[in-house]
Amino acid sequence: MKYALNWDLDSIFAGGSNSPALQAELQHLQTQIHQYHQAVVAFTPNTNTEEADLKALLALAEEIEKNIAECGAFIEALNSADIHDQKAKLLTGQLYSQMPAWQLAQTGLKKKFASYTATAWHALMQDFAPVAFRLSEMRRDGQELLDENAENIINTLNLDGQSAWSQHYDTIVAGIQIPFQDQQLSAGQAFNMMMASPDAKVRQELFAKWEQAWSAQAAVFADTLNHLDGFRLNNYRLHGVDDFMKEPLEYNRIDQETLTAMWDTVARNKQPLVDFLTRKAQLFGKEKMEWQDQDAPVLLGNFKERRYTFDEAADFIVANFNKFSPKMATLAQRAFDNAWIEAEDRPGKRPGGYCTSLPKLQESRIFMTYGESVNEVATLAHELGHAFHSDVMWDLPSLNQDYAMNVAETASTFAELIVADATLREAQTDEERINLLDVKIQNAVAMFMNIHARFIFEQNFYAARQKGLVAADDITRMMVAAQQEAYANGLATYHPHFWAAKLHFFIDDVPFYNFPYTFGYLFSLGIYARAQQHGPGFEDQYIALLRDTASMTTEDLAQKHLGVDLHQADFWQAGIDMVLHDIQTFMQLTEKYVQ
Ligand SMILES: [Zn+2]
Repeated sequence: MKYALNWDLDSIFAGGSNSPALQAELQHLQTQIHQYHQAVVAFTPNTNTEEADLKALLALAEEIEKNIAECGAFIEALNSADIHDQKAKLLTGQLYSQMPAWQLAQTGLKKKFASYTATAWHALMQDFAPVAFRLSEMRRDGQELLDENAENIINTLNLDGQSAWSQHYDTIVAGIQIPFQDQQLSAGQAFNMMMASPDAKVRQELFAKWEQAWSAQAAVFADTLNHLDGFRLNNYRLHGVDDFMKEPLEYNRIDQETLTAMWDTVARNKQPLVDFLTRKAQLFGKEKMEWQDQDAPVLLGNFKERRYTFDEAADFIVANFNKFSPKMATLAQRAFDNAWIEAEDRPGKRPGGYCTSLPKLQESRIFMTYGESVNEVATLAHELGHAFHSDVMWDLPSLNQDYAMNVAETASTFAELIVADATLREAQTDEERINLLDVKIQNAVAMFMNIHARFIFEQNFYAARQKGLVAADDITRMMVAAQQEAYANGLATYHPHFWAAKLHFFIDDVPFYNFPYTFGYLFSLGIYARAQQHGPGFEDQYIALLRDTASMTTEDLAQKHLGVDLHQADFWQAGIDMVLHDIQTFMQLTEKYVQ
């Protein structure tokens, strides 16, 4: 073994969940937040010292943000690496309990920004040009805030309100057990087995039990969803906001016209995806695709999935990154050499994968469970893409590192595409090519159909919830209708309780945890297409784009670095065309198997 399978957390804070260094830092954070709050209260707009005072304030805020991020990343890492670490759970609470004070101080500053006249603000911003976009966002938010006291009450109640409902969801899910053969599977185990099993019977049986497990507790999930989103909608209403798309659009720094242009273009391109799904079903000996078969591997002839040891994956990723960007390759190599990655396949780990930033160390950490499949090589590349995005931004003010979810997936998807195409190029037989193309197209199906269904569902659910509580049966009906629309009636069966099974509907701090995925995917495809045209010269252009991801609207970002208008269909269609090209190849290669 060349590279470690376990990550190094001790270089962040030594001692795991008993770390004295972490406790000291949490203490320090509390003092800093207190100091900051006092400085915000003392800050007086329109004075001779406002410029110097604001500079000092921003410097302190920068330190606090880095501390919160560093402590938060470490605590999250402990919790993901060992779900039984009770101390780590308490640490989460300890950090969260400091957030209302921090939010209170931030609210105060936003309100002070809001008190500037447009002219005075414009004048002040001349001295803050690099962060003017972000400070002006704060001013905009400040104009919509209630008084400090009211905001503080909401933020405090939120801990046992919206945020609590989200945690409650995790508690219910942790108790879900799915009986299969002689085992009791956790939700995560059942899901992985259901999606990856090459045996259609296993998938079918598991899916039936899976649906059953979520529907058995539908009333509890419906309560949770109703109250979580009810809290959110009431919070909007208290701020005079009726349009539930306002926050998600502002948060992702896009306008409604962009979002509409994206979904309309996606909607016009459903047929080839349906054809693909039907063809894949035929390869499984069925007429039409069933829900549980969507992600099943296509195994034709003598095909055996290629395995990559962790070391092989590492070398493969580094070599292929290098063809697009030597800087990306260097960063990936650094991650492997310095044990930034928790990859071991062992019980007691959380499912899923993520990349987290450590702004003080200027390093990242990646969490995943590596099982040697091509899919996992792709996941590893994906997370390293995130790490690269952070890496090119370390020298920027932290305000300008705070990119939104829609562009957060740009670098990761880009990295994933590089590796997907590289594995495809190395394929030896048609069977292998078909298998790999399917994996690639599955991604597109997820983005253009599954995520589309989530978006349609959530829009309809919010609209209904604004009028009152929504019964579990109605939520389920809404889900099926959304899936039928998003899949253009292309499936034989649907997943009625998907709304309960999908964690993303129960995230408290980010609304509409769906469309940014599709956005990021298409945005990244567009950039990838350009990288292929431009060759090595693209690296600097790519880095320049990544560095701007948090300091302008996404429309401006696309205009400045790609010269495209996101309100027009062309840009979106160009990305979709790359997928259609893959589908075409898939259809040609599989023709002979369905005669
Ligand atoms: Zn990602």
